[in-house]
Amino acid sequence: MKRNLPVTKNQKLTATIMDLTYQGMGVAKVDGYSLFCDDALPGEEVVLHVLKTGKNFGYAKVVERLTTSPERVTGKGKAYSQTGIAPLQHLAYPAQLKFKQKLVSDLLQKAHLDALDVAPTLGMQVPYAYRNKAQVPVREINGELKAGFFKRGSHNFLPLDDFLIQDKRIDEVIQAVLQILQKYHITAYDEATHSGTLRHIMVRRGHYSNEVMVVLVTRTKKLPHKDEIVAEIIAKCPDVVSLQQNINSKQTNVILGDETHVLAGKEYITDQLNGLKFEISAKSFYQVNPTQTEKLYQEAIKRAGLTGKETVIDAYCGIGTISLSMAKHAKKVYGVEIVEAAIADAKKNAALNNLDNLEFEVGNAEEWMATWQEQGIKPDVIMVDPPRKGLTQSLIESATKMQPTKIVYVSCNPATLVRDLQSFMDLGYKVTQPILPVDQFPQTAHVETVTVLERSEK
Ligand code: SAH
Repeated sequence: MKRNLPVTKNQKLTATIMDLTYQGMGVAKVDGYSLFCDDALPGEEVVLHVLKTGKNFGYAKVVERLTTSPERVTGKGKAYSQTGIAPLQHLAYPAQLKFKQKLVSDLLQKAHLDALDVAPTLGMQVPYAYRNKAQVPVREINGELKAGFFKRGSHNFLPLDDFLIQDKRIDEVIQAVLQILQKYHITAYDEATHSGTLRHIMVRRGHYSNEVMVVLVTRTKKLPHKDEIVAEIIAKCPDVVSLQQNINSKQTNVILGDETHVLAGKEYITDQLNGLKFEISAKSFYQVNPTQTEKLYQEAIKRAGLTGKETVIDAYCGIGTISLSMAKHAKKVYGVEIVEAAIADAKKNAALNNLDNLEFEVGNAEEWMATWQEQGIKPDVIMVDPPRKGLTQSLIESATKMQPTKIVYVSCNPATLVRDLQSFMDLGYKVTQPILPVDQFPQTAHVETVTVLERSEK
């Protein structure tokens, strides 16, 4: 049965923005029906043009702003708000930090966990140009190769030179590489016809080492004029210590394909975090905001309360960044991670830093947690830093059965965090300190948090 909606497609109406979604979109309510729109802040009165209506909510475009929020800033321009790059660039930074704290509190409240406190978000001093990694699509615009970004929820390509939140040197390297590829008439990928050569450029840069990695993602194995291109990139950008080609011939949104070749230099770059050295290869996960990651890890380690005597498990350990940081203050650290290359990096990184109290395993955290539990390993601290989908019930059960004194949960998705906290609480753990949001992604709506759980004395 079709319910009559309070708005219709193409209708124009005046409304007040009530809230921001977890994606940073403004929310207007019309008779209880939510309309989401870009570039609109709470408190602003706007004229909306309804673009799409669904059963429970719709999308609208702001055609006129009648009042302006005191927290609105000019920012870099509306185009950035419409991409995933900087959807909050029009919101003053202190208000962004408050928004992130509120987002976590609101989710807790919805789950009837409002007794849990959320600390103010730990922000960044200069909240721009922070990303140490870029993966940008390349398209041809008027015969020119352009890097850019897709508008949110679409395949509309927006060409950009200044990516606002990326390390400035990364932006420069992208332009230099594009000019060289242009000179040799390398074609850009065309999604519609699945033709053309260059799909994406990926660049990573060590924040302390300043070493740069460039990965050219191509549809075809053949890269015409390969030798000349390689020589020119290295000559023009001497800081590129690793130049690689990744081949992705599939019709897919996934950026990297399975095959990678080193064209020049090393397979990895090095960088540092909190004084530890790390080797990072193209496919390994590495936190994108180096200065905030140092703070995040310091907070996690402080909350773990290590004294040098503890056994620690670091599930979802990546290339071992948290594991190694903890190993300096613990007796023994066990790490598990599903990407084999990341574990190879983790082992090399332990050796590189002369640490020998770590053991790394490749595999599913859930299975290894159960195995360690069966083997009778008794961790004092379990550290979890899962991807957005959070933890499984079975991992939570194995973890709590080992009865660690503390569980430190680093989360990049507050929705799954709140769900998982409830499970830990049902199994006898309690949150003992305010949940701490750390802003790893300024100008975006992403929220990272550190939470400490301790075993309740029963
Ligand atoms: N702690 C690391 C990595 C965190 S990102 C750091 O701060 O750098 C999450 C990591 O979990 C990724 O490296 C991803 O490859 C890994 N991962 C994803 N699913 C997994 C699973 N089921 N078991 C183990 N690791 C997994």
